[in-house]
Amino acid sequence: MFYKTIGIILKRENFRENDRLITIYTRDYGKIETIAHGTRKIKSKLAGHLEPFTLVDLIIVKGKNFDKIIGSKTINSFCNLKFDLVKIKHGSQILKIADLMTKVHLKDEKIFRLLRKTLETISLKSVNQCDYLTYYFILHFLSLLGYAPELYQCVHCKIKIKPNENVFSFKFGGLLCQKCKEIDLDSLNISTNAIKVLRLMLNEREFKKIKIDLNLFQEIKKIIDLFLKYHQ
Ligand SMILES: [Zn+2]
Repeated sequence: MFYKTIGIILKRENFRENDRLITIYTRDYGKIETIAHGTRKIKSKLAGHLEPFTLVDLIIVKGKNFDKIIGSKTINSFCNLKFDLVKIKHGSQILKIADLMTKVHLKDEKIFRLLRKTLETISLKSVNQCDYLTYYFILHFLSLLGYAPELYQCVHCKIKIKPNENVFSFKFGGLLCQKCKEIDLDSLNISTNAIKVLRLMLNEREFKKIKIDLNLFQEIKKIIDLFLKYHQ
């Protein structure tokens, strides 16, 4: 029995003498791990389509241990991304996060679309937007996994968040007000501007670069990094 889908190649590992194990985030089946026979041979027709980052059209046969790729055609090879070291660095981080934090055979078309859109945007936009875009991805990716941070009311007493003296709690998944911040001593101070930017980033359905100064961006990066780490 065979099936067709499209997917983004997340990872490629050598497997046995001539084969490769290919991890793909597909539109219709979520993450899958498949075998591509003979792709370590120089003359392999499949090999070129199965490099990380590539968006491919796939024909796959059900197997006993692993499903096997029997046909693939490149839809987008993200050339502008693959030939730029800074873009590769950001793109690789995105693929790694997507691989680490998703389970196999758990379909989520929104994650597929976010992943595809992010790689397309990195490929097209200038290098200096990549860092911001990566954090935009992480924030939206965490939200799709069910970890959207609460940024409007205190996660403990439910009061509406007012400016000043709030903290971000990784454990409780959002903001704690001035009165409640003692309940999580591992929480981090967060500025009112950082709250505003995080809200803006989460509310944007499409990526749009926001002009923010470097210190504020560093604060936001730190919060998102620690939030990601907490859930990894
Ligand atoms: Zn509170």
